[in-house]
Amino acid sequence: MKIIKTVKELRDVLKGKSTGLVPTMGALHEGHMSLISRCVKENECTVVSIFVNPTQFGVNEDFDKYPRTLEADAKMCEGAGVDFVFAPSASEMYPSGTSDLTLVCPPYSLLDRLCGKSRVGHFDGVASVVLKLFNIVRPKRAYFGQKDAQQLFVISKMVEDLNVDVEIVPCDIVREADGLAMSSRNVYLSKKGREEGVRLSKALFTVREMVQKGESDTKVLTDAALSVLEGLDVEYFEIYDLNSFEETDTIKESALALVAASIREGENKVRLIDNARVK
Ligand code: AMP
Repeated sequence: MKIIKTVKELRDVLKGKSTGLVPTMGALHEGHMSLISRCVKENECTVVSIFVNPTQFGVNEDFDKYPRTLEADAKMCEGAGVDFVFAPSASEMYPSGTSDLTLVCPPYSLLDRLCGKSRVGHFDGVASVVLKLFNIVRPKRAYFGQKDAQQLFVISKMVEDLNVDVEIVPCDIVREADGLAMSSRNVYLSKKGREEGVRLSKALFTVREMVQKGESDTKVLTDAALSVLEGLDVEYFEIYDLNSFEETDTIKESALALVAASIREGENKVRLIDNARVK
């Protein structure tokens, strides 16, 4: 396995190869590794990109303190059979800076909801960096976690709208034994915060159980979820129809419940997101 830092070198080594790409921001955990293992299995050559992308962080977000663990990440990738880790610097990715950039703007209808409401500009940054990575790597397939459900929607829409020649492969959420969705940001949590964080998945699973028992009114389901989340700083708990990716009053064929909440850690807040198919 080789760590590559420049676009030119990566393009050179990938010439003529059928490649799968797993875009990440590093601080790899088992969630990432499930995408990576699948990519290794399904492709002749696997590239894992590790890039903490400045253009997707808001001014008051955690860009500076986001965990950066390249050495450990590279070891994990090597163990999983990855061919290349692409770990560019910000100046390699943005040689003329980030203030005068051509950006991909996902449609407002996908952004005026869920994480898009509080993280203004976030998905422009995500879509733009992912398109750059697609243009650099030219992968046959690219692997994304369902954990970031709105991101998956935004990227699938971009690929469709801009005729990008790549297959997007959605991958299941990997959880800790107690249900907490794995995330690089979980390292910010204290023991007490960690216990509070578990309530996000508890709320989702409560709703799923109620749906299994026949409840279909999303107001009743949301109230039940909010009582599990009581005391946390809840940004949203919403239930979406999966076909339309719109909020729904009644659960029909398929539904996804999504949650974002912050846990207080001293002066700071740790924002967690999670989601689950409830039908
Ligand atoms: P990140 O490094 O957080 O940008 O994540 C890189 C990719 O890994 C994204 O496609 C995420 O959705 C995915 N991912 C992160 N956490 C998990 C998880 N717990 N289970 C599955 N996929 C995940």
